[in-house]
Amino acid sequence: REYDGIRLEKLREHVWEIPQEGGMNAPARVLASEPLLEQIADDRTLQQLKNATHLPGIAKYAVCMPDGHQGYGFPVGGVGATDATDGCISPGAVGYDINCGVRMVRTDLTYDDLEGREEELVDSLFANVPSGLGGGGVVEGDVGTVESVLDRGMDWALEHDYATRDDLAHCEDEGQRTDSRPEFVSQKAKDRGKNQLGSLGSGNHFLEVQRVTDVFDDEVAEAFGLVEEQIVVLIHCGSRGLGHQVCSDYLRRIEREHGDLLDRLPDKELAAAPAGSRLAEEYYGAMCAAINFAWVNRQLITHRTRRVFERVFGEDWEDLGMELLYDVAHNIAKREVHDVNGEDRELFVHRKGATRAFPAGRPEVPRAYRDVGQPVIIPGSMGSGSYVLVGGERSLSETFGSTAHGAGRTMSRTQAKQEFWGETVRDELRDQNAIYVKAQSGATVAEEAPGVYKDVDEVVRVSDELGIGDKVVRTYPVCNIKG
Ligand code: 5GP
Ligand code: MN
Ligand code: MN
Repeated sequence: REYDGIRLEKLREHVWEIPQEGGMNAPARVLASEPLLEQIADDRTLQQLKNATHLPGIAKYAVCMPDGHQGYGFPVGGVGATDATDGCISPGAVGYDINCGVRMVRTDLTYDDLEGREEELVDSLFANVPSGLGGGGVVEGDVGTVESVLDRGMDWALEHDYATRDDLAHCEDEGQRTDSRPEFVSQKAKDRGKNQLGSLGSGNHFLEVQRVTDVFDDEVAEAFGLVEEQIVVLIHCGSRGLGHQVCSDYLRRIEREHGDLLDRLPDKELAAAPAGSRLAEEYYGAMCAAINFAWVNRQLITHRTRRVFERVFGEDWEDLGMELLYDVAHNIAKREVHDVNGEDRELFVHRKGATRAFPAGRPEVPRAYRDVGQPVIIPGSMGSGSYVLVGGERSLSETFGSTAHGAGRTMSRTQAKQEFWGETVRDELRDQNAIYVKAQSGATVAEEAPGVYKDVDEVVRVSDELGIGDKVVRTYPVCNIKG
């Protein structure tokens, strides 16, 4: 198989390899069914994936998930693990929205309890959860507040009564990167974060109330506290302007200080700092700080959401069973030890638009789920389903413990606005599917129309069949707010 001069060999069902050649330091793999591969090959994803294998110290292979599409330098839906001692770390392989991620909050409500009150709920959520470009956040912080948040992550939220101990336990890394170094985050980034603490932001970020429509694995669903017809809430956002600024700051510094490495890479956007360099350490510390910021951001939104539900349903959030099921990051790099050809090596695992999916038994999986595996949350679109998966038995050997992060875009935002009209999309969702969407602008709805995304059922089928992330439940939107 060949696309634009890039040759792929089929290794087995859903596994394609771009063999190592030229300046590649490893082969690359694409995990996709035939129809998904066709979509992946449609933009620059394969070229970007191939470019990524030029990163120094890349271990085993670069991998593209079934939801992959082109991104800044490195594909969204890409995983690249580089040696933490003599490899490199690449801001472009983490992404601009550091620790963009999703969390699911469960409830004891069923669809019956909510039917007929969708509009009240969506209006109240829209009024109380800050979104859009301006608008401030749940907490009006000063730089001191931002610095504590960067330093301590969810621990800060616990101390200020925005979170419970269980909330912390149910976040990836317990919601705190202890390697955080706020002093390596610029003043400009901190200033941008000040009034964005607890805000969705705009565009692709959302808060969605959903109902569970299908249960595929009773035992795991029970461990996750999920049953059919149950109402759950999905929150998708990241580190806002602060994370974006950290990414830009370090890309610029890499250009200035490591131009020699940059010149050897096939794409400037892949800019990387050599492992062990001062800049690599500073970027890692600043990135961990931005990761902490994003966890607090999602927690503050959770706090507001619980308040809204309390008002709308007239019960305390605890009585409504609104516990955090899990919070996963999908734009991060992390020092992790993985087996590479029989040898344990410390790697920077870059997951950009990819989700950690650790199987049962791993110590990183919260105690409540350790016997079944880590929950993995895969949003689809505001008009289709989303999924909860569980980390698969084969994720460690195949994908450095990772799977997809969504359905993945099939077209650019510009193209989307030519194809769709926001108001029409919104009205059709309401009238034909009983899905209530409220957004800051019609353009956002058009850019995020269900039609701009791939088939999430197909993405999840591939993940499940490969055994990297296995199906647990499917959900369907009830109402959705967007920036
Ligand atoms: P990203 O982080 O790449 O912007 O988005 C992650 C995934 O979220 C996308 O690939 C898409 O499948 C999904 N998504 C985007 N908008 C919505 C939405 O409004 N509702 C749901 N459930 N999923 C969405
Ligand atoms: Mn994001
Ligand atoms: Mn995201």
